Parts: sequence; C-alpha cells; structure tokens
Amino acid sequence: MTSIGIIGSGFGAIAVAVELKRAGHTDLRLWERSHDVGGVWRDNTYPGAGCDVPSPLYSYSYEPNSQWTRRYALQEEIHAYIRAVADKHGVTPLVRFGAEVVAAAWDEDAAHWVVTFADRTTSTVDLLVSAVGQLSRPKLPGIDGVESFTGTSFHSAEWNHSFDASGKRVAVVGAGASAVQFVPHLAKDAEQLVVFQRTANYLMPKPDKPYKAWHRGLFKALPVTQRIERGGIWAIMEQFARGLDERSKVGRINKAIAMRHLGKHVTDPVLKAKLTPDYPIGCKRILFSNEFYPALAQPNVDVVTHGVTRVTTTGVVDDAGTEHEVDAIVYGTGFDAQDFLESIDVTGVGGQKLATHWTDGAHAYLGMYVPGFPNLLVTYGPNTNLGGGSIIYMLEAQARHMRQVVDRMEAGSYRTVEVTEEAERAYDRDLTSQLDSSVWSSCDNWYRHPSGRITSNWPGATRPFARATKHLQPEAFTWA
Ligand code: NAP
Repeated sequence: MTSIGIIGSGFGAIAVAVELKRAGHTDLRLWERSHDVGGVWRDNTYPGAGCDVPSPLYSYSYEPNSQWTRRYALQEEIHAYIRAVADKHGVTPLVRFGAEVVAAAWDEDAAHWVVTFADRTTSTVDLLVSAVGQLSRPKLPGIDGVESFTGTSFHSAEWNHSFDASGKRVAVVGAGASAVQFVPHLAKDAEQLVVFQRTANYLMPKPDKPYKAWHRGLFKALPVTQRIERGGIWAIMEQFARGLDERSKVGRINKAIAMRHLGKHVTDPVLKAKLTPDYPIGCKRILFSNEFYPALAQPNVDVVTHGVTRVTTTGVVDDAGTEHEVDAIVYGTGFDAQDFLESIDVTGVGGQKLATHWTDGAHAYLGMYVPGFPNLLVTYGPNTNLGGGSIIYMLEAQARHMRQVVDRMEAGSYRTVEVTEEAERAYDRDLTSQLDSSVWSSCDNWYRHPSGRITSNWPGATRPFARATKHLQPEAFTWA
C-alpha cells in the first residue's frame, strides 16, 4: 500500500485525509508543527475572528453542521467543527503533533520522499502532500525598528490575550480582512485608537444572523433544507466571484452596495474621503463587516491614511514623517502568502530546489502538481485561492483529484507519478492569459508575486475548477 504523508492539519489536510481514507487508502500520517488541528482557525484567535463566507458553504459538503449558531460562524466554532470532523473520520489519531517539517528530498532510486523535521529526525513516504496553506506565516512589516518598540506589540495571528487595551493608546497597522474584524473590539476599550490604513478597502454589509433553535431543529430533522441554503449561498457567491470586475454588471452592483454601506455609516466627509477606495473593486479582497465603519466613526478612533515606515521605542512614524506615540502596536499586516512551500527546503529530481523552480512565482498544474517533483501533491497551492467563494469547496475538489491519482497508482502498481512539463506549461499558459486580464493586475495586493505574476488566485468562479479537476487526465502525467 502507498504510504502518504501530509504536511499540516488544517482544512486542506483533513479534506485530503478524509477523501483518501474513505477510498481505502489508509497508510496515512499527518505532521503538524503545532499541538492541535485546525490551521489558520487554530491560530487566528483575535477578538472578532470569524469567517466572511457563510458557514453552510464554509464547511465540507459531506459534513454539514446543523448546529451552527450563526450564519457567519466565529473562529472558536469553526475550530471546533474542524476538530469534530477530524475526530469523526479518524484523522486525529493519525496526526503527529509538534512535528515541523523543514525539508523534503526526493530519493530517485528508492522512489520516495525523505522528510526532515525541525528536530533533525526523518521519515520516508511514497507520496507527499503539502497542506501548509497560503496564510500560515504571519508577516510583520519589513520596516526598521519593529524590535525596538518598548510597549506591547503583536501580530493579529499571534494575539496577546493578556493585553488589555483599556486606557491605552493603540496603533493598528493595516486595514485588511483581519483588521476589520478586530478593530471594532479594540475601539470599544482603547482610550485612543489610530488605524494606519495605507489603502482603503471596499467593504460590504455582512448579512449575518444567529440561527434560532427552530432553524437548527429544521436543519437536523430535514437536512435537505440546509443543503438548499448551502446551494443558494454557493450560487450567489459564484455570481459574486464572476463579478470581481468593475466593468461587469455584478461588479458595478457590488461597488454601489459598498459605497452605500460607507455613506450609511460614515457621515463625516473627511472620514468618508479617507475610506473611499481609489482602485477598481475586486482588486483587493472585498471585505464584509457591519461594525468596522461605525467603529472608525467613534471619537476615540483616528484613521491615518499613511503607511508606517518606521517603529521607534515609543511609537510609529508614518510615511508623511509624523511620529505617533502609542502604548501598543497591533500588526494586522497579513501573511507571507507568496511563500507557498518555500519555507520548506524541497528538493526534487536532479537536486532541483522547488524554491528555485518558483523563483518568478509559484505555478503548478491544477495548482497541485509540479514537473520535476514526482509524487508531490500540493493542496491550496498556486492559483487556487479565491477572490470570493468558499475555499473548502476548492479543497474538496483537489482532494478528489488527488484520490484519483492514488487510485490509479495502486491499480497500475505505479511507483511514481509526475506531471509532464508540456501539460503544466499548457495549463499555465491558459491560466495566465485569464489572469493577465483580471482585475487583480490593476493594484497592489497579496495575490501577486514581486515578479508581477498572480500566483495566489484562481480566476473566477469555483465551478470551472471543480469541472477541471473532476476527471483525472492520465495523459498529463508520466506514470512509472
Ligand atoms: P492583508 O489583507 O494582507 O492586509 C494587510 C494590511 O496591512 C493591508 O491593509 C496593508 O496595506 C497593511 N500594511 C502592510 N504593511 C503596512 C505598513 N507598513 N503600513 C501600513 N499598512 C501596512 O492581511 P489580513 O487582513 O490578515 O488578511 C489576509 C487574508 O487572510 C485575507 O485576504 C483573507 O484571505 C484571509 N482572511 C480571511 C478572513 C475571513 O473572514 N475569511 C478573515 C481574515 C483574514 P495595503 O493594503 O496598502 O498593502
């Protein structure tokens, strides 16, 4: 039986593990650097952390949760859901916790991967699945002085829960998807809150609501009702994803909704001007919140439309040269999304490094398979992130494709599978032509590699990806 090692234990890793287990591939192990399953939903515990994709869709299709307490579940509930799925499907016992993978090398003679951990121990597997995600490495701004600050400072993904903002002057660096969720909480307590918003974002209302007991009862008694809700949300999000372009009708509607939301909550013309984006809608992730604008309109909150260029012992200096003295700094500065697998030293055929192969930005056939790296399967890899929609839907599609690969290997007694260069190149050519004309090329965002290549996102709706991955194309691979 093929032995399979999976790096990570978040949504992606569990999707693959469950899919393989259900198909009878049971020689599985997962390696998790932390001490619990859950990936980003384990790590991001900042106040207000939650998902801006409705939970009936932001869950595995085969594991609907009739007991969600609200339409947009918060972090704790999502984390509990992941744990429950991992337990139910027998994945948790397969996880080795505290096992940080630092290197993986393909042994051509033995046709297996040699995986090295931070403690220098090693393990070998026939197939290696990377499920390290795109947003697992918190990024501090690469500016001078970050270490010199003498007050409290931390990144949103490493929230300091002993920190009490009451009576303090607090700086928040960043105004992205994480900041819009935690800023309203800080604004309640801080004596003074300064939000450094280098670029304004489009913000839409969040149609959130608690599910009442009767909803949960109905979902449980008649699961079809929840499937209908899921289907409806999916259909709406597909249109939303197609409309991530101001030139489209949906894009224009989205922009009108966002501008109306701003006008409704912010009446001060100066603040309104600060919060009005100056780039096409969809270029950066569209955000959802009913609390962010009201929080920014509070008298104890100031929005500075400058980047932070330096940190001093007592505060931050913005790019206009103004120094702001604060007691605490919270970095909502995002993640090293372009890193992909580069933080793990991956060596393929002929000693080729994956980091070198991806010098100009990561690319892979279907986002999963890289020529020169046999028996390596990447989940949530290049060009599989979404501008709108549920990543869980994408992860399930990837898991199903990977399962077909493993099925075929076992059925044909193959030891190796490797995508051909031609297949990868043709796939990438097509993808790049779609991405080049996408809205994501029109502003700075984390979807793009410094080379200019859009490496994170899948262009558009999720259905075409599910279709592209539904049936394995054996001719795209070399089987040996
Ligand atoms: P982010 O979207 O990458 O935002 C980082 C923020 O930091 C941006 O506003 C950026 O400004 C700012 N920034 C960076 N360096 C700065 C500097 N020197 N001075 C001032 N501002 C600076 O990070 P994030 O908010 O953590 O979100 C990352 C991703 O995580 C999201 O896009 C999303 O995919 C995911 N996420 C999802 C949810 C959800 O509800 N599903 C919630 C949270 C996060 P610029 O825009 O000018 O670069």
